[in-house]
Amino acid sequence: MTERDLGRVLVIGAGLGGLTLAHALVRTGIDVRVYEADDATGDRAQGYRIGLLPAAMDALRASLPQRLFALVEATGGSLTGPGLLFDERLNVLHRDLEGPPGDARAMDRQVLRRILLGGLGDRVAYGRRLTGFTEGTGTVTARFADGTDATGAVLVGADGGGSVVRRHLVPEVGLVAADLCGAMGRTPVTDRFLRLVPGRGTMVKGPGLTLMLGRMEFGTEPSAAAATLAPELDLPYRDGYVRWVLLVPPERPATPEGGDARELVLDLIDGWHPDLLDLVSSADMSLVGRSRIHDRPMPPWTAGRVTLLGDAAHLTLASGGNGATTAMQDAVRLSALLARVRRGERDLIPALEEYQADLLERGNAAVEFGKQALKRFVPADRS
Ligand SMILES: Cc1cc2nc3c(=O)[nH]c(=O)nc-3n(C[C@H](O)[C@H](O)[C@H](O)COP(=O)(O)OP(=O)(O)OC[C@H]3O[C@@H](n4cnc5c(N)ncnc54)[C@H](O)[C@@H]3O)c2cc1C
Repeated sequence: MTERDLGRVLVIGAGLGGLTLAHALVRTGIDVRVYEADDATGDRAQGYRIGLLPAAMDALRASLPQRLFALVEATGGSLTGPGLLFDERLNVLHRDLEGPPGDARAMDRQVLRRILLGGLGDRVAYGRRLTGFTEGTGTVTARFADGTDATGAVLVGADGGGSVVRRHLVPEVGLVAADLCGAMGRTPVTDRFLRLVPGRGTMVKGPGLTLMLGRMEFGTEPSAAAATLAPELDLPYRDGYVRWVLLVPPERPATPEGGDARELVLDLIDGWHPDLLDLVSSADMSLVGRSRIHDRPMPPWTAGRVTLLGDAAHLTLASGGNGATTAMQDAVRLSALLARVRRGERDLIPALEEYQADLLERGNAAVEFGKQALKRFVPADRS
């Protein structure tokens, strides 16, 4: 078999999945361009800290240039130590809550995204919101809201939960509001607040409400780590913080989505232990958000030159803690198959069919896992 020119892969969306795919493709020598709707690296409202399962670390190791993976490892924080359950007055109810495996890592979302953007240079185009695409003979053309277009051999919709690509490819799948409304915030660490989260995570169960706390302590402070490991990357200085999330009853008239969560949370946890009230009122960032999910498991579609990756194909609930990991696994599987196409070992469409079968099986299982996991967080008197 001889190598052939696969052509350019168009990736729609510079999120965690699309960027991992771009790196994996660059590594295998495949031409790739990423088109992102946001104007710049935009720090989006998707949460502050993210837990990466060991499979995500494997996927990043397989995809990123060595120095960028070293930066992921250096800046990541531990997710080990006891998982505590408190009542709202901070009486310990349980000291060994279930948690992620010991080799999972906590990452600051903004730091991770900036690392993932490293080294891709002008392969990432900003301000390019996909509106549609057309498949031709041997090509696919993407159209953008700014009137431009781009043509390649394959188009990958890595455009997140509201995916335009998914709407064109699988129009029968819709988005519905999940029974998960969260108010979350980030509070700079102090010894007093760190004592609330001595290990991999803390859950506080008060009457009808659950507050979850997680610590983000950088292994090495990000700007210092970048200066040593990847000086071309300008990572901002970051202090550690405690990330808190209160599941807000969906029936509760909430602060508008994306609004400041502090007043809402302080109102809901009125009378709880002063350390918890101070943790919330000292937040330097907070917001309210409502989760959405697909209204059915993702069905198969007729395989062509357009496919999906990450949340676009399997919109998981945050409760599963597995959405990013699954998206990164998609990236590794897809790039491995496209590399085989390039080496002349596979034909393109059967390879994309094989990818789709694996994507749907793993993705739908990941979504179901998140739905089941949510039950652990909803207090008994609300469920
Ligand atoms: C509060 C919260 C906490 C979470 N915690 C965890 C966790 O701890 N662990 C975990 O594994 N997962 C977690 N997740 C899930 C995880 O964030 C997602 O699964 C992951 O970000 C999916 O990556 P993605 O690349 O598919 O999509 P995204 O990261 O959402 O990226 C999609 C990109 O596409 C762009 N885009 C959208 N539309 C267009 C368009 N039309 N044209 C061009 N670009 C477009 C967007 O701007 C965005 O950059 C959490 C999610 C939330 C909301």
